[in-house]
Amino acid sequence: MRHLLTLRETSESDIRFLLDTATALKEILQRPVKKVPTLRGRAMVTCFYENSTRTRTSFEMAAKIMSAEAINIAVAQSSVAKGESLKDTVRTLQALQADCLVVRHPSSGAAHFIASQVRIPVVNAGDGRHEHPTQGLLDLFTIRQIKGELQGLEVAIVGDIAHSRVARSNIWGLTRMGARVRLVGPRTLLPADVDRLPVQVYTDLRSGLEGVDVVNVLRLQTERMEKGLLPSLREYSRLFGISVQSLRVARPDVLVLHPGPMNRGVEISDEVADGACGVRSAVEEQVTNGVAVRMAVLYLLMGGGGMSGQD
Ligand code: ASP
Repeated sequence: MRHLLTLRETSESDIRFLLDTATALKEILQRPVKKVPTLRGRAMVTCFYENSTRTRTSFEMAAKIMSAEAINIAVAQSSVAKGESLKDTVRTLQALQADCLVVRHPSSGAAHFIASQVRIPVVNAGDGRHEHPTQGLLDLFTIRQIKGELQGLEVAIVGDIAHSRVARSNIWGLTRMGARVRLVGPRTLLPADVDRLPVQVYTDLRSGLEGVDVVNVLRLQTERMEKGLLPSLREYSRLFGISVQSLRVARPDVLVLHPGPMNRGVEISDEVADGACGVRSAVEEQVTNGVAVRMAVLYLLMGGGGMSGQD
């Protein structure tokens, strides 16, 4: 049994294989008829205990493009609302003959717990502030596609690192592929274990962005944030908001990513988000690439081959 739970536990060769598979599958998205029979007769079930637009929809599209059934559990209307435990819910979905579970949960570690309870592949679609491996993969995919390679790139991850699962999956995935990672943000939004991460830390935006090839901008995760971590949104935006002006110290061809949803005017300006004023923004390409990457993950876990790690 194989899963995709974290990028920390995914080897360089598996990441490379996933990215190469996504590159091959992306071509299907450009066809007038986006349908191949690859996963016919398989059923993917998504079970999201937290809100989502991009991730859930792109998993559904990815499954349908490859002719798998895509069943979405509306958690708020399910027996979870009657108090059913996570273990009973996922075992029920397995008994209903799901071939793969895609799960998002507010608790860090939920995906590992689920994987320990079922025999079918589990994909972590975000567990608390821990990891979001398919987002990490689509960020790597997007950077590699635009920059040509990941090895040797200088990447700044800016903002609310402490509460971000995207940051963690990026840190592990990027460093494994040979990029150098800087974390840039106010001290209060850095994770407690930052000294043990393979990164350089900057608490000043200007020095953090100096000479970087890529800036990955994070959303302020107010839903996970205790009070008092920020003086005010205006202050945060002034000191750490990514604008055309703040990007001037980066490399001239700097690439800007954001996992979405964006708080425009807080962590990112409209111009940067929309790729205006000569800024290279990859925000919409990230979304499209998310479908290709999730196709690769479902293909490799549900029947089209396997990955070596993550038992
Ligand atoms: N969509 C990403 C996540 O679910 C990023 C975010 O919500 O800010 O982690």
